[in-house]
Amino acid sequence: MANIILLGPPGAGKGTQAKRLEEARGMVQLSTGDMLREAKTSGTEVGRRAAEVMERGQLVTDDIVIGLIAERLEKGAPGGFIFDGFPRTLPQADALADLLQVKGQALDAVIEMQVDDTSLVARITGRYTCGNCGAVYHDITHPVKVAGICDVCGSHDLRRRADDNEDALKTRLMEYYKKTSPLIGYYYAKGQLSAVDGLADVEAVADAIAKVLDKA
Ligand code: ADP
Ligand code: AMP
Repeated sequence: MANIILLGPPGAGKGTQAKRLEEARGMVQLSTGDMLREAKTSGTEVGRRAAEVMERGQLVTDDIVIGLIAERLEKGAPGGFIFDGFPRTLPQADALADLLQVKGQALDAVIEMQVDDTSLVARITGRYTCGNCGAVYHDITHPVKVAGICDVCGSHDLRRRADDNEDALKTRLMEYYKKTSPLIGYYYAKGQLSAVDGLADVEAVADAIAKVLDKA
């Protein structure tokens, strides 16, 4: 069992690898982005407050996402948690350390997925996902096998995200460099950081992550 963070800019491949780790190792993906989108769909107060900020590509407030994570950690995960898109600020990183400590749990690895900005734009603008099972696809590099149908669960509910456009992506990248990238130094200083080449193909990235996990 291991608790890990997948750290990287939007489009680095965090969700793609988190889904594989769920399958391969029985870990549980905690994506604050997915949780916020679900809150929006179910019309909760949190969802309403977050939706507009998300569409612009800005970060929602720390208290909202920390609250979502705290609630989910209570349910536990025998195979460990994959934090995907959380933490995104230093206060969130401190809050996560506190939450895990209270539960007597460790953070076993922080995996930085390195991808250059030009590739991120191409990845984000081609991305679509299955609204039913969360499988992640790409127009060019990983399209569904049968048009309009999810390969994994057969659903017809394939979606593009409102913030997956070049304008919102500029803001998202700026937010990443200003507020999230300092976490690389933070976790390096704690001796918890490992970097993988996120530009490699999906299998090779998965192998690199597996190597880190097997050492953790
Ligand atoms: P993130 O969760 O970090 O925002 P995703 O996992 O959703 O990123 O991936 C973004 C897009 O890039 C998706 O369309 C996905 O299919 C594609 N993708 C993910 N990993 C790779 C990879 N190693 N090589 C090429 N494309 C990838
Ligand atoms: P993601 O699905 O990870 O790309 O996140 C989509 C959007 O949700 C981000 O652009 C933010 O607006 C919001 N969001 C997700 N996770 C966080 C977080 N940890 N802190 C602040 N905002 C977040």
